[in-house]
Amino acid sequence: MSAPLPTNPDIIIIGAGSSGLSAAKKLQELGTSYVVLEASDRIGGRAYTESNIFGQPVDHGCSWISGSNDNIFSNLGKINNFTLVDHSNPKIEMFERDGTKSPKEAVKEYNKSEFKIKEILRDTGRRGIDIPASRVIPKVPYGECFQNWEGALNYAVDVDQISTAEYWNTKDTQPSFIVKEGLGNLVATLNNNFPIAFNTSVLKIDYSGSGVKVITSNGTILAKACICTVSIGVLKSEKIKFTPKLPNKTQKALDGIQMGLLVKIPLLFDGSRLGFTENSFVQYDIAPENIGSGCYFLAWPTGHDYIVAFIGGRFAWNLSKQGEDEIVEYALSKLETLAGYDIRKHFLKGFAFDWANNPLSKGSYSAVKPGCYGAREMLSEPVADKLIFAGEATAGDLAGLVNGAYESGKMAATRISNIIKLKNKSL
Ligand SMILES: Cc1cc2nc3c(=O)[nH]c(=O)nc-3n(C[C@H](O)[C@H](O)[C@H](O)COP(=O)(O)OP(=O)(O)OC[C@H]3O[C@@H](n4cnc5c(N)ncnc54)[C@H](O)[C@@H]3O)c2cc1C
Repeated sequence: MSAPLPTNPDIIIIGAGSSGLSAAKKLQELGTSYVVLEASDRIGGRAYTESNIFGQPVDHGCSWISGSNDNIFSNLGKINNFTLVDHSNPKIEMFERDGTKSPKEAVKEYNKSEFKIKEILRDTGRRGIDIPASRVIPKVPYGECFQNWEGALNYAVDVDQISTAEYWNTKDTQPSFIVKEGLGNLVATLNNNFPIAFNTSVLKIDYSGSGVKVITSNGTILAKACICTVSIGVLKSEKIKFTPKLPNKTQKALDGIQMGLLVKIPLLFDGSRLGFTENSFVQYDIAPENIGSGCYFLAWPTGHDYIVAFIGGRFAWNLSKQGEDEIVEYALSKLETLAGYDIRKHFLKGFAFDWANNPLSKGSYSAVKPGCYGAREMLSEPVADKLIFAGEATAGDLAGLVNGAYESGKMAATRISNIIKLKNKSL
């Protein structure tokens, strides 16, 4: 249930994802009036747990609570009695390029290579060098397998699209949790009867006058300022028009950030475990020319009866054009080559949420382009003292993450509310 909407609020928040909900929470604490405008019929945005398709909760968007020691969602999960499963050191089931099981030492080799590549990338960034990560990665055993994880599947862009400077500036994602009841469900607990107008698409933001005029599919709302939390995929699609045009430095910041793509393909089985341990990662080595096209798996997360397949980066953008059935078939056939027996006998159904073509996300999460380090900070600077961008793309060292989105919303709300208070005082 949503509370009645205030008319002429001080602040309009666009988007009811993690960032918009945290901005709402902060403004409520500060006693500043606001309304949230959300284009879809639900809260959460890219944090979305759904339980109908499989009869068990599946996170279509975010699922890991990363860097859990100081992640708001660890505390929130504990307070709300969610089941948080430690996923900091998952078992790795490693396969060779031909699909045969790797020898035991392979995982050790893989871990050593991961450490080495991370060190080199961080060191390059630390020295202020902002170049594509692929340029400095050495040739090491199972290095291609790690690059596939780190690029296409973690950063949601390929390794040649990762900025070494951003890599250095990214906070460590360990330790981490996965959530049995779903991280999307956990994020949804943020809603404290906030005034949210659902099914209300923002079409235009006019900040040419003394305040802001926001034109939506359901009419026009006036306010003193606006916090815009939509993804940079949505901003780049120019579905929302700005009057006047965004200043050059904001536009430049936006141009310096790319929208990545991670596609999750949950595959439901009949309870058989196909030889894979719960919560383990299933991955295979790949040839250098195939980096980015690997499809890796998380088996039976928190004991559920499904395996989640992941594809990302350019490969995922291309496969997304072919449709859901093709994607599911691709993931299933990859798994088949590893499991070693007829998994189709046990397979019930699968799906892939289309973040690529979803008009409310236009991708999964953002990555700074090589050479453009600093773009996130620039994007988070208030425009004309009445428009501020928030959301994961503005979240500095927590960018791309659901907790980063949360922190950015809180910060934007504090900044814009202070600006309004100062303006009121000087009147
Ligand atoms: C597949 C996938 C896996 C991920 N995995 C992880 C993970 O494991 N751990 C992690 O920390 N993060 C992960 N993330 C990233 C995380 O989900 C996001 O960083 C975070 O949820 C973004 O929150 P946000 O508030 O910035 O944006 P959003 O959640 O996108 O919120 C923006 C809101 O704006 C709405 N909107 C869009 N256009 C309009 C409009 N014109 N008018 C009004 N409303 C509009 C949208 O509907 C949406 O609700 C993942 C994301 C995806 C997609």
